[in-house]
Amino acid sequence: MKVNGFLKTETTKTNFNGNRLSRNNDHNGHDLIGDNHVATSLETPMREDAFLLSDEQKVLLIEEKFRDIMNVLGLDLTDDSLNGTPHRVAKMFVKEIFSGLNPDNKPKISVFENKFKYGEMLVEKNINLNSTCEHHFLPIVGKAHVAYVSSGQVVGLSKINRVVDYFARRPQVQERLTVQIANELKRILKTEDVAVVIDAKHLCVSSRGIQDEGSSTLTAEYGGVFKNQNRKEEFLKYLSMNIS
Ligand SMILES: [Zn+2]
Repeated sequence: MKVNGFLKTETTKTNFNGNRLSRNNDHNGHDLIGDNHVATSLETPMREDAFLLSDEQKVLLIEEKFRDIMNVLGLDLTDDSLNGTPHRVAKMFVKEIFSGLNPDNKPKISVFENKFKYGEMLVEKNINLNSTCEHHFLPIVGKAHVAYVSSGQVVGLSKINRVVDYFARRPQVQERLTVQIANELKRILKTEDVAVVIDAKHLCVSSRGIQDEGSSTLTAEYGGVFKNQNRKEEFLKYLSMNIS
């Protein structure tokens, strides 16, 4: 079968992972990187052949592998409650929580002329953010706050949510997610004057490992005028205002 043939070549590709393995040397090296949440690059690390399989083929293969994981754990997959889980998880991975890996799903955003000549910063705060930690495959849940100063172009407000959502729907590291959102908005709005702040809880920190329920992680990217201390403070002041 074509799909199995593909899989075979995949296994030999562990050489690629092998290289990364040798850098970390052993299991402990991996654990160290994972728990420190270090990102290795700005781009999400993807292989060139990432989209040779269709979504449907991916769902079938992941379903099979997830069934194996559940079996190894000793779960009884003939139980009515567990029977459909491998398919549900596979579909959720491909179509929902990791759909942002596929550039075909990138939101197409049109810009408009800034007719009102609004020259101050525009802030959209408390944007829902649901992502997944790429080191533990556990949820990252929080809020994103975005600001920009128009260079003559504006976007519909809900489009900012769509950009946040697209990059969040990947296995992520919060620092990379923050920069990816900022860079995409800079590209769309044709300006460096973009700021992104993310405040999020990582379930890999709260529900396992150190089990710290109270902490959240803040990351920020300030471009153009937002590198100016006054602008930065103005933006952060808006974020602390409670308007209901
Ligand atoms: Zn994690």
